[in-house]
Formats: sequence, structure tokens, C-alpha cells
Amino acid sequence: MADIIRLLPDHVANQIAAGEVVQRPASVVKELLENAIDAGATTIKLIVKDGGKVLVQVVDNGIGMSETDARLSFERHATSKIQSAEDLFQLQTKGFRGEALASIAAIAHVEMHTRHDAVEMGTHLKIEGSKIVSQEVAVTPKGTSIAVKNLFFNIPARRNFLKSNQVELRHIIDEFHRVALAHPSIEFHFYNNGSELFNLPSSILRQRIVAVFGSKFNERLVPVSEETQVVKISGFICKPEYSKKSRGEQFFFVNNRFIKSPYLNHGVVSAFEGLIKPNSYPGYFLCLDVNPTSIDINIHPTKTEIKFDDEHSVYAILRSTLKHSLGQFNVVPALDFEHDENLETPYTYKNKEALQPNVMVDAKFNPFTADTNQKSFSKTSYQKESSKGWESMYVGLGSEAEKDANFEKLTFESDVITGSIFKEEENIESSFTTFQLRRKYIVTTIKSGMVVIDQNRAHQRILYEKFLKNATVIEAVSQQLLFPLSLAFSKNDILILKEVAENLTGIGFVIKTIKEEEIIIAGLPLLVPESDVLMVLEELIANYSGNLIGEGFSQTDILSKNLSKTLSVKTGTVLDSTSQQALVDDLFACKESTVSPFNKPIYITITENDIDKKFI
Ligand code: ADP
Ligand code: MG
Repeated sequence: MADIIRLLPDHVANQIAAGEVVQRPASVVKELLENAIDAGATTIKLIVKDGGKVLVQVVDNGIGMSETDARLSFERHATSKIQSAEDLFQLQTKGFRGEALASIAAIAHVEMHTRHDAVEMGTHLKIEGSKIVSQEVAVTPKGTSIAVKNLFFNIPARRNFLKSNQVELRHIIDEFHRVALAHPSIEFHFYNNGSELFNLPSSILRQRIVAVFGSKFNERLVPVSEETQVVKISGFICKPEYSKKSRGEQFFFVNNRFIKSPYLNHGVVSAFEGLIKPNSYPGYFLCLDVNPTSIDINIHPTKTEIKFDDEHSVYAILRSTLKHSLGQFNVVPALDFEHDENLETPYTYKNKEALQPNVMVDAKFNPFTADTNQKSFSKTSYQKESSKGWESMYVGLGSEAEKDANFEKLTFESDVITGSIFKEEENIESSFTTFQLRRKYIVTTIKSGMVVIDQNRAHQRILYEKFLKNATVIEAVSQQLLFPLSLAFSKNDILILKEVAENLTGIGFVIKTIKEEEIIIAGLPLLVPESDVLMVLEELIANYSGNLIGEGFSQTDILSKNLSKTLSVKTGTVLDSTSQQALVDDLFACKESTVSPFNKPIYITITENDIDKKFI
């Protein structure tokens, strides 16, 4: 019988290895940046075109390579960084597997210019799909420039699998952030399609964080520092009140390498316990320095996961260090979620004498006149604060909307209902047609029995259909803001907002300008209260960057879904009986009333028959 096993040719083996190392342009960015750092560069330039699909180039001023090394660097298992297996546990470099360049060269057009410090002439090398096309002596600055063009040119399936340029660019920015934050002393320049996206001078971590995420971060950071035998911890955590609905800015660096660690993340989150709301995520930039012999980095091809010898100790030390920092900087009063910043004494007032407050008295106020039009100071000001802008949600609805008993114009009570149930005797029938169960469900009767409605999902559906309707009219209706709102975002977030700007406009946002780190909004859709804009946009960004939103859906649809989710009444909100009734009416006026925009059932019915059966 003939033998059938053959050794794969190198270029095929390289292509297979490339599948592990290079998933998308961002992987190339990571490998090239890391090589530049390993080469001792002090200035690194990253140049990207069309989401990295057309070009990813990294130029460094590092040590460079000799002519022979330049050739060898593209061979598989060719590395200058380790010599024996023992070296794996003494790693001081980012790379060690010697497969990145070989893998990249197998699936792209690569052009390298490199010159070693010690020689005058450098090398220019061209490789396409593992084949060397040309190698020449060249005049080139000290250091290395590697340009990777037309990624996956020879694997159409992989190329088609890539996402839009914007999505790929976002992945690249994520990788860039990780490397740039791990090495604040290195100067970085990042050009995207010819314009400079980041210019990061050599600095320290705090300045680097601010340079990357915007100046608003400066005040958010709480320093962390601890040194033990097992681990040295430094870096920053974000004050609890700035925790986000998305994972956002969470970075662990172990020996200057970005790593992912759900376990250590858990340690951080538990240090914040009681200080942040459930389902929000604290920001952190934590550098852990450990003895290289106590970790194993070689457990994953992309080297973003590592194994600690003594993971439990690191966890415990991390947790107590963070608790200590949070306590030392006394960042928030514990468990005060409804903490009102207006009540805080500004720092500059700390040592000033208290002023006699001005008491305003409504002299005309008479508790026995039932003048409903009378404006009482206490009511208007109190309501505005306590209801966190619920009411403003209903401001601006046209008179047409007011005609029908519309859920949107009704108010919700954030407290226990105080109205007496005996007040309106003639209405007793109707006020008992709905009732709220455990602040979560609205129960109402129908001919055949009863319906139990999930209030949150029902409201999502109602809002979703309203947004969609709004988007299909030629010009969406907006409420103009008296003062345009200026909101600060990081550059990455701004990119996302730019992407969705047109659709935001479509549903009624009036965007005046989008700057590098700021968006100015002059008008809002009727359904979005001013007080919720930041939250709405932050959640939108979170969903986009978390790739929760698949491509192929219409952007308007995605937006409407998002907004309906963010703005809907949540489980736990008390609804008065008129609001309950209106919710039911509005729900059954929807085109599709059975499932939420996220395809979850909105209500269940229990027939008289079902009930009868229970009594048998
Ligand atoms: P690894 O980084 O794991 O060693 P790579 O395939 O990324 O493997 O690189 C192979 C070798 O090429 C490196 O070990 C290094 O000697 C050399 N090299 C790669 N990039 C650079 C660079 N920018 N400057 C100098 N040498 C480089
Ligand atoms: Mg490498």
C-alpha cells in the first residue's frame, strides 16, 4: 500500500499558521508594533489605509536588521529573541515565537526597508505570498519599516470575512491603544488614510491615558501603587462614578504586555463592590510586574492570555490594593447611588463661611384653594430633580398627541403611589382593569381571561415603533435645545458617532458639529429627554464597539432598537393606573405587539380555562 502522509510545503504551513496569528488587519498592527518595541524603538509610526485592508505600515527607529537577518526574519520559527525552551520563562520581549513575519508574508504583499545601526547601507526586500520577489541594497534610515499590503490577497474567503473599513479601523485603534498605553515612554504617531489620528509624545502613564482618551480622563483617575514579593502593582483606576455601561477602558498590563484576564477582572470588580451600580463596569489601567519565571505567556498564539503560577495571591493582592486606593482617596460615599452632585461642596468653597440661604415664600399660597394651575415652587423644582428628567421626555409632544390617551404624556411616579383609591368612585371600574405586579408586570383582563404584560418589553416595542415611524417621515421632528449641548467623547467614540451621525439625524438629533473629542447637539428627537442624551449616546457607542450590532441590519433599525432599550421604563418602576392603561392601549396599537424589538415575548395570556383547571 502506498504511503499517503506528506510534509506540507513551507508556504502552506505558513498560511495555516497565519490563520492563528493573523485574524484581521489589527493582528498585523499588533505584531508589527511589538516587533518595533522589541527592536528598542523610541519613535514608532503606524500608517493605515482603508481599515488596514489596503495598507498597514509600521516605521520604527529601532536597531534594524542586517541583510541576512532581514531575509531570515520571514522564515518560520526564526527569531532572535529566544534560543532554548528555558528562555520562554525569562521573557523580556514581546515576541518569541518567530512566526509573525512568516505568517504575514504568507498572506499579503510585504515590503521591508531596514538598516542596522552599525552599517551604512540597508536592505529593501519584497515578498508576496511567502515568495521573495526582490532583495536589494538600499539607502534607508536607521531602523525598520514594514509595509503590509493587500492582506489575504490569496485567501479570498478570509478577505471577504473582514468587516467594513470602519469596524476594522476600530479594531486597529484598540490594538494601538493597548500597545501605546503599555509603553508611554515611546513616541507614537498614527496616520489613518493620510491624516494623523494620534500623536502621542513620550510621557508617563497618566499623560498617555489623557492623550489617548481625552483630557476629561485626568480628573477621573485614582492612582494605585503596591509592591509585594509576588507582584508590583501600579497604574490607575477610574473613580467609581465614572464607571460605564460597557467594558470600555479596562486594561491589564503584565510586564508591559496587554493581557486579558477574566479572573483578575473579577478581582477588580469585587474591589468596587458597593461603589458602582450593578451592570456597570469600572475603568482601569493596571500594570502588574511579576517575575518572568512565575508566568507562562506561551498558552495562546496571540499572547494575550497568560498563566500565573500563583494566580490566587495576585488576585488577593490586587483586590486589597484597589480597595485601599479607593478608600485612601475617599472617592465616593459608599452606596450612595442617587448621590446628587449639586449637593456637593465645591472644593473652593470648603473653607468659606456659609451664606444665609434666601428663603422664597409664596405669600399667595393657600392650601385650601384647589387651583391646579397655581405654580408651587416646591413641586416644580422637586419633581425635576427626583424624577431624573422623566417628565421632560414628554415635553414637546404636539397637541395632536395630547388628544388621545397617550402613554407618552403620562408621568411615572418614582415613589409609592399616594393617591387614595377611594377618590374617584365613579372610576372604580376602570381603575381596576389593570394592575401592576411586583413593579414588573401589568396585568389586565381580556374577554377570555387575563394578560400579563412585561412593562419594560412593552415600552421598548412602543418606543421602537415610534422611532421607526419618525425615521420614515421626510424630516424627523426634533425639539430644539435652548442651549446646544456639548458632550465630550474619546477619539474612538467620536469615530463611532461620525459613523452613525446621519442616522441620528434621521431620527431627530440635530448635530451641529463633531470635533475631535466633542460633539455639539442642537436638537433632540421628541422622545429623548435632554438629561438622558449622554446615557443614550454612551450606550449606543458601547453596543457598537462591543460588536453587538451585526452588519447588514439597517442602521436606523439598530438605532431605534438601541434607543428603545435605553429609554424604556425599566422593571422596578412604579406605574400609576392611568400609565398602566395607556401602556396597554399603546402596546395593542403597535403593528407587532407580541414580541419586543429584541424578539422576546412581551406578554402571556392566561385563559379562564387555564384557571379553571387549576381549581379542579
Ligand atoms: P518574533 O517577534 O516572535 O521573534 P517575528 O516573526 O515577529 O518573530 O520576527 C522575527 C525576527 O525578525 C525577530 O526575532 C527580530 O529579530 C526580527 N525583527 C522583526 N521586526 C523587527 C524590527 N522592526 N526591527 C528589528 N528586527 C525585527
Ligand atoms: Mg514578533
